[in-house]
Amino acid sequence: MSPEITIKDIFDEMGTYIELDQATKNRIEKAYLYAKEAHEKYGVDPVTNELLGRPQKRKSGEDYIQHPLNTALILSQHHLDPESIVTALLHDVIEDTKRKAEDIRGKFGENTAKLCEGLAKLSKIRYQGADRQVDNLRRMFVAMAEDMRVIFIKLADRLHNMRTLDFIRIDKRPRIARETLEIFVPLAYRLGMFEIKSELENLCFKYLFPVDYLALSAETQRREEKDQTYMEKVRQELLGIMRQEKIPGQVQSRIKHLYSIFKKMKAKGVSMDEIHDRLALRVIVPTKKDCYALLGVIHSNWQIKLGRFKDYIALPKINGYQSLHTVVYPFHGEDRQPTEIQIRTQEMHQNAEYGLAAHWLYSEEDKKAMVADERQKQWIKVLNQIRTELENASFSESLKTDLLENRIFVFTPHGRIIDLPKGATPIDFAFAVHTEVGERCYAAKADNKIIPLSSQIHNGQTISIITRKTAKPSPHWLSFVKTSIARTKIRQSLKSQDYKKYLHEGRILFEQELAHYNLNLSELDLKKQRALLAETPYKKFDDLLIAIGSRAYSPMVATHKILSNKPETIPDQSIKKVIANKDAQEKSRQLGIIVEGGASGLKLGTRACCGSDLGSHIVGYITRGRGIAIHRADCQVIKKADPAKLITAYFQGQKKFYSIRIAVFTQKRAGIFRQALGVLIERDLKLKQASLFTEEQMLIYNPPAGVDNVFVFDLETENFHQVQEILRDLEELSGVKEIRRLD
Ligand code: MN
Repeated sequence: MSPEITIKDIFDEMGTYIELDQATKNRIEKAYLYAKEAHEKYGVDPVTNELLGRPQKRKSGEDYIQHPLNTALILSQHHLDPESIVTALLHDVIEDTKRKAEDIRGKFGENTAKLCEGLAKLSKIRYQGADRQVDNLRRMFVAMAEDMRVIFIKLADRLHNMRTLDFIRIDKRPRIARETLEIFVPLAYRLGMFEIKSELENLCFKYLFPVDYLALSAETQRREEKDQTYMEKVRQELLGIMRQEKIPGQVQSRIKHLYSIFKKMKAKGVSMDEIHDRLALRVIVPTKKDCYALLGVIHSNWQIKLGRFKDYIALPKINGYQSLHTVVYPFHGEDRQPTEIQIRTQEMHQNAEYGLAAHWLYSEEDKKAMVADERQKQWIKVLNQIRTELENASFSESLKTDLLENRIFVFTPHGRIIDLPKGATPIDFAFAVHTEVGERCYAAKADNKIIPLSSQIHNGQTISIITRKTAKPSPHWLSFVKTSIARTKIRQSLKSQDYKKYLHEGRILFEQELAHYNLNLSELDLKKQRALLAETPYKKFDDLLIAIGSRAYSPMVATHKILSNKPETIPDQSIKKVIANKDAQEKSRQLGIIVEGGASGLKLGTRACCGSDLGSHIVGYITRGRGIAIHRADCQVIKKADPAKLITAYFQGQKKFYSIRIAVFTQKRAGIFRQALGVLIERDLKLKQASLFTEEQMLIYNPPAGVDNVFVFDLETENFHQVQEILRDLEELSGVKEIRRLD
C-alpha cells in the first residue's frame, strides 16, 4: 500500500509552481475537510443508495479520502490551477455520498459545483461491453465541451484507480484496463499529457498482457544497472561538449517506457536491442536557436544514425509536441549503443510534460483575453484530432454521425463553448447562451464580422450577440432557427407579447387574400394545412398566421401555395368522383391493390424506387397530376415524403397494417408518460410496446438539449394517417421537445 498522503503534500507540490496565498490554501483545506466528512459520515451504499452509516473505505482498506487526495496530488504534479485541485478533492462527493451538488454550490460557488456535476455525469456510467465504451466517450465529449478541466481531473482520477487496480476483483481488471487504454490513453495523448499517458499505458500493459509485461520488465531490470552507467557516461560526455561550445542547458536521461517498447517490438517484430530510441537523453536549452546549434554540434561530434533525425520544432506533432530528435552513436568504444537525443526549450518541455493543462494554469495568471484565444485554438485542434481519429476508428456509425458530423462547437467572446446542431443560426446560439440574450438579440457577429441573424454559423467561430433593450423575437425567426429550445422560447415570448395581436391580424390578412379566389380559412382542414405548411418554413399553422400577421410572410405567397397545391390536396368530393371512374377501379382490381376510400385512383402505378417486388406492406403517394403511385411501405422515398401526400393502401385479401416506431423526447414533467400513452390509446391502433428511457440510457438516441426522458413506442395501425395525427397530437403535449420516427 502506498503511504498515506496529507493535504500538506499537495500544498508543497503546488508551491513549486504557483504562489499559494492564504485564501487559496483555506479554500483547498475547506474542500478537503468537507469531502473527508462527506465520505466518513454521509457515504451511500452503491447498490441500495442508502446511507452507509459508517465511514466509506477504498477497496484497499484505506480511508476513502485518500483517493481524492491522491487525485489532487497527481493534478498538482501536473501544475493544474487551484480550482481543479478543489474539484479533485470533491470529485466523488456527489456520486458517492448524500451530499449533493446544491450543498457544494452553497459552500464553494457555482464554478466548483459545475465542475463537480460534470464529473458526476462522467462517473454515472454503469454499462457493460462495447456500448459502455461508446457511451463513455460520448459523455466525455459533452463534458469536455463545458470545461476541459473536467477531463484533466477525470484522467487523474483514472490514474489513481489504475494504480490501485490490484485491489479490484481479478475478473474486473481487464475490462477497466481496456477501457483505460482505448479511451483515457488517447485523451491524455491528445491533451499532450505525456506523463499520465505513459503511466496509464504501463499499467494497462500490466493487466492486459501480464506475461509479456513480466518478461519485459524482468529484462529491463536485468539491464538497468548497465543502462544507467552507460547513460551517465553519455550524459557527462554531452555536458562536456556543451561546455566547450558554450551552450548552457540541462541534460536528463530517460529509458523508453515499457508499453512503448512492447508496442514497437510487436509492430516491427524486433528485439529490444533493435529499438533505437529505448535509451534517450533529453537536453533542455534556453532558446530555439540553441536547439539547432546543439544539434549541429552533436552531429559533428558523433556518428548519426541515418534516417532517424526528426524536426518536430518546425513540424510539431498533432498534439503540439515540439523537439528535435536524433539518434547517434556516442563515442567510439565497443560499448556504444544507438542513443536518442531530444533537444527542446524549457517552454517546449513544459508543453510536452503537462500538455494543455499547462496552458490552463498560465491562463489564470496571464492576460486573460489573449490566452482565452489561445485556449480556443488549442481546443478546436483537440476536437478536430479526435474527430479524425474517430473517423478512422471502428466506433459505431451512429456514434460518428450523432456525435460529430451533426454538431458544431462555437465560442462565446469569453471562451465558453456552445454545442449546437449543424446549420444553427446566431439566434440558436443566443438562446443557448441565455434566454435573455435570445430575447434581446439585435445583431450578431462571427469572428468580429456582422452576419445576418438567419445565416449559418460554423465550427470554431467566436460568436458575439449584440443585444438591445428594445429588441424582441420576431415571428420571422421561427422560419430559420434549428434548435427546439430556440423555437420554444421564441413562441413563448411571442405569446406573452404580441402573439394574440399577430395571430388575429394574420388570420384577417390571410382571409382577405383567400377571398380573391373564393376560398376561406375554414375550408383548410388539417390535411390541407399540413400540405401548405410543408411548403413554408413553419412547423405549426399558428406560426404561419403569426408570421403573416407580423408581415414576416406574405399572405399572397401562402395563398399561391394553396392554389398550386390543388391537384395534390384532393378534396373529398374528387375522391368520390374518382371512385365512380370505372377504369381506375378496374386497374386497381387487376393489381389487387386497394386504396383508402375504395379505389381513389386517377392512375395507379408501381414505382421504380421500390424494385419489382412491392412486398406485403404498401402505401399510396398522391403525385402531382399523375395519380396515386404505390410504394413499398418501407421505401426510402416514402420515408422522406410529405406525410400529407400519403394514403393508406393494401393488397386485396390481406390484412393491412403498418408497423411504426417513434421516439418522443420530453422534459421532466409529472404524468407526461401517461399523457403520451393516452394519446396513443385514444386512437384505433395497436400499441405493441412502450419503453421509457432515463437520462443516461437515452443517450443512444442522441437527444436534443434540455431533454430528460425518451419514450419509445412500437405501434401497429391500419391507417397511415393515424401516424401523422399521433405525431401531431404528441407534439402538442406540453413538455414534449421532439418526436422522431425510428422505423
Ligand atoms: Mn474517483
